[in-house]
Amino acid sequence: MKKSALLLITLLISVACLTGCIFDFGKDDMKNDAKNKTANTSVENTAPVETPVVEEPQSTKNGHTIVIDPGHQTKDSSETEPVGPGASERKQKDTSGATGVVTGLREYELTLQVSNKLKEELEKRGYNVILTRTKNEGEISCIERAEIANNANADVFIRIHANGDEDSSVSGAMTICQTSSNPYNSNIYAESRRLSVDVLDEYVSATGARRERVWETDSMTGNNWSKVPVTLIEMGYMSNPNEDSLMASDDYQWKIVNGIANGIDRFISGN
Ligand SMILES: [Zn+2]
Repeated sequence: MKKSALLLITLLISVACLTGCIFDFGKDDMKNDAKNKTANTSVENTAPVETPVVEEPQSTKNGHTIVIDPGHQTKDSSETEPVGPGASERKQKDTSGATGVVTGLREYELTLQVSNKLKEELEKRGYNVILTRTKNEGEISCIERAEIANNANADVFIRIHANGDEDSSVSGAMTICQTSSNPYNSNIYAESRRLSVDVLDEYVSATGARRERVWETDSMTGNNWSKVPVTLIEMGYMSNPNEDSLMASDDYQWKIVNGIANGIDRFISGN
């Protein structure tokens, strides 16, 4: 009897222990679930907490769109494209442009530096700004550049370039638009001409650069394909040691940007 009682007690203790253990495992599972729930909850809490969209006050936006075209790119395209809609004459899609005679800066680098600053300045002044390219690599043709301005229905299409000449003493700035008898877009000649004058006037006033002229020509593919007021600015000569150094400097680039932005303001306010 004693032996069987002892056996019974041992059995009971074993059962109690097992149940306890099972119960403990259950507790652990519940703890883990609780942990998981806590983890899930904390994820839910941190993820979609809606940050209020800080909209700029309407008054800071002026409703005008400017498309800036930083001239050239790394690649010299071997392909050609028509110089205007329906034209049989074709020109290279794009080239890598000029090179600074003392700085060694490439024109495509300079035009992107200036364009980025111009974007910043124009946005401060309330404009909606689009760049035709944001990096130096890649291939974008002159027609494609114009199409970006056309698709955006831009108020101004401003093309940023720097000049080059065999004579290193040649200096100064010019803007370029189509002629009044341009076969592709003479309908926007008057506006493009006025834009070219406004930008060049304000540019030379802000930078002190020599004023060359507004050059009217129908040989520029990007200008010819534009359906919106267009001007191309040659900021100065990269073949001129002084202008090359100036254009590469941060200070002068901000003068350039102010001049162009003032010209755009003047054009827009004259509409
Ligand atoms: Zn150029």
